[in-house]
Amino acid sequence: MKIAILSRNPNLYSTRRLKEAGEAQGHQVDVIDTLHCYMDITSSRPTVRYHGEELPQYDAIIPRIGASVTFYGTAVARQFEMMGTFNINESVAISRSRDKLRSMQLLSRKGIGMPRTGFANRPDNIKDLIKNVGGAPVVIKLLEGTQGIGVVLADTAKAAESIIEAFMGLKANILVQEFIKEAGGADIRCLVIGGRVVAAMKRQGAEGEFRSNLHRGGSAVVVKLTKEERETAVNAAKIMGLNFCGVDLLRSESGPMVMEVNSSPGLEGIEKATGMNIAGMVFDFLEKSPKTATNKTRGR
Ligand code: ADP
Ligand code: GLU
Repeated sequence: MKIAILSRNPNLYSTRRLKEAGEAQGHQVDVIDTLHCYMDITSSRPTVRYHGEELPQYDAIIPRIGASVTFYGTAVARQFEMMGTFNINESVAISRSRDKLRSMQLLSRKGIGMPRTGFANRPDNIKDLIKNVGGAPVVIKLLEGTQGIGVVLADTAKAAESIIEAFMGLKANILVQEFIKEAGGADIRCLVIGGRVVAAMKRQGAEGEFRSNLHRGGSAVVVKLTKEERETAVNAAKIMGLNFCGVDLLRSESGPMVMEVNSSPGLEGIEKATGMNIAGMVFDFLEKSPKTATNKTRGR
């Protein structure tokens, strides 16, 4: 098959591994810099141009679109969908997953467990907002944050109020969430490919840190999932419409709680923790998807 990886940087671990694994399985794999793609969006025959030439018709694309280029990146992915190219993670699904509130509303509607979460735009009802998620301690999150930056634990209602007021004063969008203490500073990353959890790891925060992000000094080990955790991860991926994603869970007293579904899951942590060829599994999935498979929305 002829496959394109949409990625800004061919040297990133995940991009490199995907290219290597695809080629090892006999595919032509091109890394295309998303931001260098351009297109005539009004043409009746949709195409994508790149460095002065029309790109060939690919069988599939694997978008690796960073959070900061979601808007342009999803437009490029959508153009490929309109050309009839199979996109492993549809543009609509990526947009969905990048909006934390939209994701949580969709997951919650389908009964996926998640920490009690509230959000507000104005500081006039902060006390009630905190009370509504069960009172302090609460976790306050900047909606635009990634890698654990902008995630704050407030031990008391007083502290929570001041932090929320400060964020709102800066016009930042935030959500307020019940603190899952029993998770013990750990979370579970489930790697889902084609409706199956192919690998999972437990990430433990550094000593005295409630955030488990590897970027914040956390460490990862392989973990065995319960049936309920497995089902939750698979369902969350399905609701989001993602074939290749990372589902982050917290282990709570009332079962698995989904925190986030990531549409560009990093491969380094999970491949190193498990010793598995996850990149190869992405191509196993693409090989099984019929060549004529197109996306549900085809960009619409
Ligand atoms: P980011 O998307 O920036 O990584 P997350 O929402 O995933 O932010 O939060 C970062 C980390 O903080 C999580 O991996 C988890 O370990 C911890 N955490 C987040 N929310 C909660 C919560 N409600 N209760 C307990 N721990 C949490
Ligand atoms: N690769 C990071 C992860 O899997 C996040 C990438 C993104 O911004 O979507 O946690």
